[in-house]
Order: sequence, then structure tokens, then C-alpha cells
Amino acid sequence: MKDHLYSIFNFKCPRCHQGEFFEDRNPYHLKHAGDIKEKCSHCDLKYSPELGFYYGGMFVSYGLGVALFIAITVALYIFYPEFHPILLISLLFASLIVLGPYIYALSKIIWANIFFSYDEDYAQLEKKSKNDTKQTKG
Ligand SMILES: [Zn+2]
Repeated sequence: MKDHLYSIFNFKCPRCHQGEFFEDRNPYHLKHAGDIKEKCSHCDLKYSPELGFYYGGMFVSYGLGVALFIAITVALYIFYPEFHPILLISLLFASLIVLGPYIYALSKIIWANIFFSYDEDYAQLEKKSKNDTKQTKG
């Protein structure tokens, strides 16, 4: 579990925790929001094993949205019990707009972490130098 959390919150490769997962680490750079690298630069894990692999991330995104809804509702009941429903709706709407890109990125890397697990052997791989890859290719 700890391994998955490291990968998820640092946006790192789920298998080696060394390579970057997204083209752009900042989910608020909307031009590349959610763009996943083809494979890990460190361990060569192919991030998209099949076409449409990340459609399943929709379910994760839905779950995160529901968790956000519950958290905001509970917080309102605790800190401001006499709230008007319009306030709740406004807060939910605003938080979904503000956190949307982050939730989108989280949903993809959480989905990847469901299928890929941390492997210490890959983490300790020496980063391939360009000379090594040339030699193996011949
Ligand atoms: Zn990797």
C-alpha cells in the first residue's frame, strides 16, 4: 500500500518509482493534462498495455468525486451547520473545477497502480546509458 501511495502522490512509475508517469508533472498545465508517457524512462514499463486501458480510470475518478462530495458535506455540517443548500452546491461546483485536473491525473495513476506493482529489482536497475542501448542493438 505504501508503495502505491508513493507512486500515486509523486506521479512516478508504479513499478520502479524512478521514471515519470506523465508528460507534464503539473496537472494544471491543461495542454498536456493527463498525457501519459508511452513507457517508463527507467524500467521500460509500457504504461498503456492495451488500447483504452485508462477508460477504467473513469470509475476511480467517480469514486474520488464522491469522496470529495462527502468530505465537503461533512465539513459543512461540522463547521457551519445552518448552511443553505446553494452554498453546498456552489462549494461542490467550485471544488470540482479547481481540483478537476488533479483528480483526472490521480484517477489515471491510481488505475495504473491497480494493475502494476512496485518491484525493487526494477527500482535498482542502473539507468541505461545511451552507450549500453547502442551495444544491445548492435
Ligand atoms: Zn519504471
